[in-house]
Amino acid sequence: MKPAPFTYHAPRSVAEAIQAIGTLDDAKVLAGGQSLMPMMNMRFVSPAHVVDVNRIPELVHIGVANGRIEVGAMVRHAALLADGTIRRHCPLMAEALAHVGHVQTRSRGTIGGSLCHLDPAAELPVVASALDAVLTVQGPQGTREVPFAQWPLAYMTPDLAQGELLTRISLPVLAPRQGQAFVEFARRHGDFAIACVAAVLTLDARSRIAQVTIAVGGVCATVVRLAAAEADLRGQAVSADAFTAAARHAHALDSADDAYYSADYRRELTSTLVARALGIAAARAAQDTPQ
Ligand code: FAD
Repeated sequence: MKPAPFTYHAPRSVAEAIQAIGTLDDAKVLAGGQSLMPMMNMRFVSPAHVVDVNRIPELVHIGVANGRIEVGAMVRHAALLADGTIRRHCPLMAEALAHVGHVQTRSRGTIGGSLCHLDPAAELPVVASALDAVLTVQGPQGTREVPFAQWPLAYMTPDLAQGELLTRISLPVLAPRQGQAFVEFARRHGDFAIACVAAVLTLDARSRIAQVTIAVGGVCATVVRLAAAEADLRGQAVSADAFTAAARHAHALDSADDAYYSADYRRELTSTLVARALGIAAARAAQDTPQ
């Protein structure tokens, strides 16, 4: 199928892009097009205007400053995967990206596009949640910083007002004695996750769990954090029993049956993946070597 007719715009700066999406009626931002174009071709969406942000160099950067990794919204998945800074300072992202679609998808798809599309089974929102990413959004009213915990408002609905553009993603660098792990179960490699889990675990000087975050994708309407499991684990010694017990909190997740899998199956699968991710993250934290 072909999309309905639309007017194409190609701004050359963030200011021009915001001017366009803030003033045009019924405009959509085009990033990598890996989700938007199929939706337009199938006429799930038919915007009157498409604002292509692929020619804006200020949206394409990866850098480290003050203990944080700053990534421009238009950095493509393939560029993130190949980047030494990401592999060294944010191994969780590199591990997760290996599960995102196929070579073609990753060559065009962008980090900003994934976080704005906010598919509940997508990998990058799970990474952003586990790392407490901070997103920079620019619009006609100025610039705002949004902690990722406040980003998903509902199913596939980010906290993005009409006329706003996601411009930058900020993530903490891998801390000493921290391990990060991403695990996923999908029907075939490259498919969206049936369930996926990101765990970030930091050990203290006595090798107890000082801090841990656990984010789950594919199971609920939005990415969710297993806050109860995180609270249980803080201060505990590392053990498979502790991880299995904490992972049982996944059975309380608000999942739904679909044509392929029951909610109970997804919850059981998630519980298994949570225990597995925690075990890998803890082992990596104990080694304290680059992953
Ligand atoms: P686009 O498709 O261009 O845009 C998506 C949405 O976000 C649109 O509504 C757009 O207006 C909005 N948007 C984009 N950028 C911005 C911005 N900076 N500010 C404001 N709004 C913005 N994804 C996965 O996570 N896991 C997978 O396994 C996976 N498999 C795939 C397999 C195939 C065959 C295909 C085609 C896609 C797959 N995807 C998968 C989706 C892929 O990751 C997309 O790239 C991603 O979801 C959207 O990124 P994009 O840059 O292509 O955004």
